[in-house]
Amino acid sequence: MENTVFIFGHKNPDTDSITSALVMENLEKKLGNENVKAVRLGNVNKETKYVLDFLGLEEPELIEKIDDGQEVILVDHNESTQSVDNISNAKILKVVDHHTMNFVAPYQLYYRTEPVGCTQTVLYKMYKENGIEIDKNIATLMLSAIASDTLVLKSPTTTSDDKKIIEDLEKISGLKLETFGVNMLKAGTDISDFTPEQVINIDSKLFEQSNKKFRIAQVNTADLDSIFKNQSYFEQAINEDIEKENLDFYVFAATDIINSNSKIISLGNDAPVVERAFGISVDNNTAMLENVVSRKKQMLPPILNALNNDVNL
Ligand code: MN
Ligand code: MN
Repeated sequence: MENTVFIFGHKNPDTDSITSALVMENLEKKLGNENVKAVRLGNVNKETKYVLDFLGLEEPELIEKIDDGQEVILVDHNESTQSVDNISNAKILKVVDHHTMNFVAPYQLYYRTEPVGCTQTVLYKMYKENGIEIDKNIATLMLSAIASDTLVLKSPTTTSDDKKIIEDLEKISGLKLETFGVNMLKAGTDISDFTPEQVINIDSKLFEQSNKKFRIAQVNTADLDSIFKNQSYFEQAINEDIEKENLDFYVFAATDIINSNSKIISLGNDAPVVERAFGISVDNNTAMLENVVSRKKQMLPPILNALNNDVNL
C-alpha cells in the first residue's frame, strides 16, 4: 500500500471525524482517486459505534504515526495539535473542515472550510458540485455526523445549510433525525464502564494560544448529577493530565443534551481564566454555563479572548 493517501479526522475522534474520513474516501474514489484510505487517530466512541453497527461497517484502521512525506487528507480539523503526532513531516493534499483556522503550509493545497455545523455539510455540497450520487449509507453517515455535531440541530453552531441538508438526508436514508439522531446521542452518553481517565479523553482537544497550553474536554450526558457525584475522581484524572502534559489549565465540560447547558470543572494554574471568559464565578472548581453546548462556538472563543486580553494588558 505504498502510495496510499491517508484520510483522517482529529485525535479523540468524534462521529464527524470518523464518518467524514469514510465519506471523503468514498468521494475521492468516485472522483477516480482509488488509492485513498480512511484511518483514525484514536478509539471509536460509543456514539460512533452505534452508527457503524447500524450500517454494519468496520471501524477504520488505527494509525499512531506516519512516515515522513506521507500524503494525507485532513477532515474535521486543521490544527497540528489535534492531528497525527508527526503531521509536520506529512504532505497535506487537502483539508475539508468547519473549525477556526490555525493552519499554515508552505505549499499549495486544496483547503475547504465553511462556517457550518459539521464537516459532512461541506462534504454534501462537494458531492452535489461534482454530480455524485449520495446513496443510503453515505446519507446515513452524513445525517449521523450532523446530528452529533449540532446536537440534533439544537446547538447554536447549526446553520440554515445544515437544516436544509438534513431534510434531504432524511429522505435518502429513510431515517428521522429526531429518533435515530437522539438514540445515537444517548448511546454516546453511556460511560458506566469507563474510568475517569477514559471519560475525560472521550473528546478532549489540545489548544495552544498566547503561550498558554490547555485542553477543553467535553462529554455529553443526559444526567449531570451522575457525572458530578464523581467529581473528585475526574479532578484527579485531570490533574494527572495537567502534570503530564504541562498544561496551564484544563476545562472539562459535561454537556446536558436534554437541557442544553454545560457544567464545567476548571483546574490548573490559569484556571481562573474561565471566570473572565464567561463572567462567572467558579465554586469548588465548578461552574454552570447556561445555554452553552458548543466548544467551538461558545467555549473556545471567550477563552481565547480572555487569554488575548491578558497578553494585551
Ligand atoms: Mn469533530
Ligand atoms: Mn465536526
